[in-house]
This record gives sequence, structure tokens and C-alpha cells, in this order.
Amino acid sequence: MKVFKFGGASVKDAKSIINVAKILKSEGYSAVFLVISAMGKMTNAFEEVVQSYLSNSKDLAIKLADIKNYHDAILYDLFEKSHPIFNEINLMFLEISQFFIQNKNSNYDYVYDQIVCYGELFSTKIISSYLNKTGISNSWYDARQLIKTNTDFRNAVVDWDGTCQNIQQLNTTNNLCISQGFIGGTSNSISTTLGREGSDYSAAIFAYCLNAESLTIWKDVPGVLNADPRYFKKTELLNQISYREILEMAFYGASVIHPKTIKPLENKNIPLHVRSFVNPKESGTIITKGITISPSTSCYTIKNKQILLSIATKDFSFMIEHNISHIFQLFTEYKIKVNLIQNSAISFSVCIEDPYTQFKHLYKKLSEHYILTFNLDVSLLSIRHFTTKNIKAIQSKHKVLLTQQTSKTIQFIVN
Ligand code: ASP
Ligand code: MG
Repeated sequence: MKVFKFGGASVKDAKSIINVAKILKSEGYSAVFLVISAMGKMTNAFEEVVQSYLSNSKDLAIKLADIKNYHDAILYDLFEKSHPIFNEINLMFLEISQFFIQNKNSNYDYVYDQIVCYGELFSTKIISSYLNKTGISNSWYDARQLIKTNTDFRNAVVDWDGTCQNIQQLNTTNNLCISQGFIGGTSNSISTTLGREGSDYSAAIFAYCLNAESLTIWKDVPGVLNADPRYFKKTELLNQISYREILEMAFYGASVIHPKTIKPLENKNIPLHVRSFVNPKESGTIITKGITISPSTSCYTIKNKQILLSIATKDFSFMIEHNISHIFQLFTEYKIKVNLIQNSAISFSVCIEDPYTQFKHLYKKLSEHYILTFNLDVSLLSIRHFTTKNIKAIQSKHKVLLTQQTSKTIQFIVN
């Protein structure tokens, strides 16, 4: 059994869906499990629908119609008007409208999961029908019945035993199966989601439960690169990289694979291929046990929108455990994410992220006890397997505010 994952960019229009069929034909599709995301930017569009619904905005009907039109345009490109898929999709839109009329729960996270899951349901329904039509016969499965989770809406935790039991009952021998990424369901069949960009993780869950021989994630880049092409001009394709190394890169900010994807694969030693749906003949990157990184090169990651905060005691006493634990308690309270820590006798510097715009409040609270200095909107640049040449290049290009170095990684906070 092989698992293939296609993300939103690889199924964003009719042409891309035809390309998916082509890839399946050339790769083979017997004993394949396909995990697919919502088309294009549909998850963002559904998020807006949820906002409009909960704020009683007049935009709701327009926003839903935009989503309907987007899918309809793809349907008209792929099918005859008489094809039953039109009716199936219309019925699913009706379910959404009915939910809006009947729902009494105003909890954002709950409503979000009940609605946003339709992005993946639409895409998989459409693709499954299209593949059947072109002779690639397949079975469609509702991931909400397979991936069982708790009720932490928008960030649901997987019940691995229940999930594996469900998935192992499927008839996968010599079949092509299709299901959704990102979504799951509770034991009472209430829809849940696994966190934004969670389809990679879903694919790893399916691969784990199926004891798959490999997972392939098809992307719009040639594979895992040594630097994000959005920020770096020169990048290099990594042919091979270990599970541990990709986790390190993800930790420092690489966004190529959702970090939760790796652990289930590593536990069963299932190789992960990252390949290009644009150039499917290329072999891309393989992530396995063993060789750390090949070719051996430096890897760059960057986290923007960081805050460098330095904290000193008011009486110039030492920064000790007691102070540090107090500071961390406040970080937790204000949902601040800490990406780097540096400690000296009387001051403590942290590079933090403020996803819930709580920094102002945190600052006020901390300044009751400490002397604070900070730099807003700095970047955290990390280099794995650095060389002295790399270091000099960074120092000549940027104003470096802080440096931290271990044997394999050097990190700079830069302006
Ligand atoms: N469609 C979901 C999202 O955009 C999940 C995914 O694409 O991985 O976040
Ligand atoms: Mg997506």
C-alpha cells in the first residue's frame, strides 16, 4: 500500500485535477490511498463564511455563493451537465445551509469544524467522480468516520487505536481509495479538524494505520530545499534527509512539511517522499532513517515577525530560577511562543512570537517587576550545518542583534 497526498495547490482547478489523474496513471494506482486537501484557497474562504455567519453579517450569502461558483466552474470543466456529481455537490451545499438554520451553538471552534470540513469533502467528491469517469475506479471514504478524535475543535487529538481499527477494516487490496486530509470526527460523528495545513498529518495517520510502504506528498516545489525560495535566491534540492533532521528544520521554521507528520512515519519506519506535481518524473526528496542530509549542505530557515525582549531585574540582582519561572508563567498566560532563550547574570533575552497580539498586556505586567527593552518585527534566522562563510555572509548583510550557536546550528536575530 502506498499513500499519496495532494494539497490544495495541486487540485486548485480542472487542469490540476487532470494532472493528478495523469500522475496516478504513470505511478500506478492499485493499492494506493489518496489523501486530498480542499481545492486552492478554499479553507480560507470557508473561514470567512464562518466569520460572517457568527457575526450575522450580510456577506454570508455572497461568500457561500463564491465558494459554490468556484466549485461549479471546476465541475463544468470536468463533467457533462447531466453528471450526478452536480446533484451531490448541491446536496452538500444544502447541508451547509441547513446547519446554519438549525445550529444553536455559537462556539467559534465548533462551528468552524462543522463548516470548514466541506472544503475537503467537496474536493474529494469531485476528484473521486472525475477519476471514476476517466476509468480510474476508486472508492471514496468519509475521513470523519475513519479518523477518530476528541472534541478539541480546530485542533483535535487523534484516538490512534480507534482510528487504526477503522482504517484497517477498509478493503484496500488492489484498490484505489480516496479520503480527506485535515478532517476527522468524534465518536458521536461530530466533525473535527486537526489544525491548519493538517492534511500532511492525516496522510501520515493513514500511512501509519495501513502499514504503508511509503507516503508521497506531491508539492509545487521540487522537494525539500535547503532554504525557502520565498526568501532565498539560491536554493538547493536535498535528495535525502533523515526524520530527525527534517524535524529540526521544521522546529526552526521550515514550512515544507507539517511537523506532526514525521513522528508516525518514523515510528513505523515508513519513508516519506516529497515530489513535484509539476515535474512528476523527478524523484524529489526522500525522508528516512539514516543519512542526515545529502548533499551535505547548509540549511537556512527563517521566522519573521519576532520580538526580541530583554528582561533585567530592577535591583540588578541575578536572573535566577525564581525570576525565570515567573517570566515563563506569564508567557504561558499570554499565549506567547518562545523561539530562543539566552541568559546572562542579570538579564534574560528571549525571541518570542505573539500570535494572539497579547504582547502589550504582557509588557505591562512584566514591567511591574523588571526592566525591559525590546525590538519589534525582527527575524530569527537559523542555519543548520553552518560554515564560517555562511556566518560572515549573514553578518555583512544584516544587523545582528543576538547570536546563539550549538555544534550544528547557529541562530541570528536580525533586523
Ligand atoms: N485545507 C486545510 C488547510 O488549508 C488543510 C491542508 O491543506 O493541509 O489548512
Ligand atoms: Mg490547504
